[in-house]
Amino acid sequence: MTVPTTPTSSSPSRLSAPGVIVTLFVLAMSACVLGLVVWKALDARQAVLAQSETDSRNLAHSLVEHASRSIQAIDIAMSGMADLLKYQNPQPDRFNTFLANTANALPQLREIGVFDTLGNWRYSSLPETPTHNNSDRDYFTYHRDHIDSNIRINAPITSRLTGRTSIILSKRIDGPDGTFKGVLTGAIDNQYFSDFYKTFQIGESGGISLIRSDGILLIHWPSMEVGKDLSGTQLIQTRLKQSLAGFYKIDSPFDGITKYFSYEQTTQYPLIVTVAIPEDQVLAIWKSNLLSDVIVASVLLCTVILLAALLSTQFRFRLNMEHALRERESHYRLLADNIADVIILLDRFGNIVFVSHSVELVLGHSPNELLGRSCFELVHPDDVETVKAASAQLTDLTANRTVIFRTYRHDKSLAWVEVNFKLAMRATDREKVEIVGVLRDVTLRKRMQDELTALNSKLAELATTDGLTGLANRRTLDGFMRRVYEQHEQMSVLLIDVDNFKGYNDSNGHQAGDECLKRVAAVIADATINTPALSARYGGEEFAIILPDVSEADAITIAEALRLRVRALEIPNMASTRGHLSISVGVASRNSLTSNEAALVGEADLALYEAKRRGRDCVVANSALKREYFSAGFSHNG
Ligand code: GH3
Ligand code: MG
Ligand code: MG
Repeated sequence: MTVPTTPTSSSPSRLSAPGVIVTLFVLAMSACVLGLVVWKALDARQAVLAQSETDSRNLAHSLVEHASRSIQAIDIAMSGMADLLKYQNPQPDRFNTFLANTANALPQLREIGVFDTLGNWRYSSLPETPTHNNSDRDYFTYHRDHIDSNIRINAPITSRLTGRTSIILSKRIDGPDGTFKGVLTGAIDNQYFSDFYKTFQIGESGGISLIRSDGILLIHWPSMEVGKDLSGTQLIQTRLKQSLAGFYKIDSPFDGITKYFSYEQTTQYPLIVTVAIPEDQVLAIWKSNLLSDVIVASVLLCTVILLAALLSTQFRFRLNMEHALRERESHYRLLADNIADVIILLDRFGNIVFVSHSVELVLGHSPNELLGRSCFELVHPDDVETVKAASAQLTDLTANRTVIFRTYRHDKSLAWVEVNFKLAMRATDREKVEIVGVLRDVTLRKRMQDELTALNSKLAELATTDGLTGLANRRTLDGFMRRVYEQHEQMSVLLIDVDNFKGYNDSNGHQAGDECLKRVAAVIADATINTPALSARYGGEEFAIILPDVSEADAITIAEALRLRVRALEIPNMASTRGHLSISVGVASRNSLTSNEAALVGEADLALYEAKRRGRDCVVANSALKREYFSAGFSHNG
């Protein structure tokens, strides 16, 4: 035989569900945190790059303006000098002083020199006019061979006088007829720009360059690597052709480092300024912020994972507990619902907290309809006090009480139930006292008990009464006599005999005789009803009445009344000379000579015998018998 199994919530898949939930939660949290960090990082990077571009472009613009103004000042001064020298040949001393003053007034200008058509020094701002020939210099040959009045910015050269790297600005001096009259030069120390550029914080690998439009590097800070031809670079080849200013990312042609690069070209002179800031530096703060974000996020994630692990453990623990509790509860339920008895749990006010399903089988009520109701509602109104009295006796946890009371079943039929009550305390709440009851239907048992009781009382009645007449029997009479004789000084006994009854039986039959005896017995019983006296069947057609605390005179009165009442029944009796049924009564009362109860009965019997002798249907007292005897004796003797 196979036992059907029902799926329970304790299956392993259910147990692992919290684990899946927690894992999903952790993954979702991780994704959120990660997403947030990445989103914030990208956003911050964008902002940093945008800020860097603005700063870098502003710097390039300022620097190209600075270079342009620096050269413009020299250009203006040199243009004036070229015009003067076109028509005049000033005194060397005075013009040299003028040149020196001009050079002093312009801090960017280190020296000014004027060369004749052969490249020899004519004038100089220096204290001593040099004597060497400069006709080999590129700027000299250019101006000699080109009719171009514009200022020329030359590639950096090393000064033959000072040995310092300089940018030479040169201008052709024309004669009044336009012929070549010499070259005017102004020298700017590279140091001038370097000193200015180094005041900007662009980082160790950052760089600022001043480049001639054809790609010749005039100044590069911090390295002094000047004169380099950058014409092949992206800047000269494409960028400048697209725009005079711009910003882009390059690998530096100087050190190969990736840099953010901004440039601007001035329209006034063929000059470009570039500002290069290494990517690392631009993103340094962003990276450090990113690092702290990552640390915070990691800590957060670790905390989440830790909490999740803790939660998961708690979940599992709780589930196991719940499972164990469910198992235990199902065991209890199995027991409570499958035994023939009903288990009831009451709170201390007597309200039903729990009732087992077996109540449906026993009383027909569904457990739900009983929950929350007072237990006294189930008790028959006449038994409520009994139940209350029993429950009041539950004073401590060891006591239990059994009470039987009536209750109504669901179908309104009456049932007898027996409930065993006991106080109980829950392990989880020692303060809370409840009442546990086990209820059992005892209707059948009660009925059998009642029947047995009735049977027993019937038996007892049978043992003490006479079956035919319902009067007390001889045994009862003897016991009663003994007790009355012990307890009462005064008592009387009537012995009653139906007259000529044999004859009645003979002429009417035994059954009619029985009926007749019953009628006489009813009269005798009626005489003692609601009195402490006892009527009994003495045997056959003889009866006795025991009268406690009754005097002889009263006893004679009672006997006489009895005799008349039997006569009044007017039961015909052919065997009697009177034609109807009669009784004879012998009366005896306790006196100082009475030795015991048997003697008293004997005296009554003697009196009865005397009544028969006198012709029946009369009452004779034993005392009268004695008096007659004595008077007869005296007369005989006398
Ligand atoms: P007496 O007047 O002298 O008492 O005459 P008696 O016929 O009544 O007396 P006796 O003692 O000769 O007869 C009693 C009769 O009572 C005999 C018996 O048949 C009858 N008897 C005794 N018990 C019962 C009984 O329970 N039922 C019936 N039907 N008759 C009974
Ligand atoms: Mg008799
Ligand atoms: Mg008789």
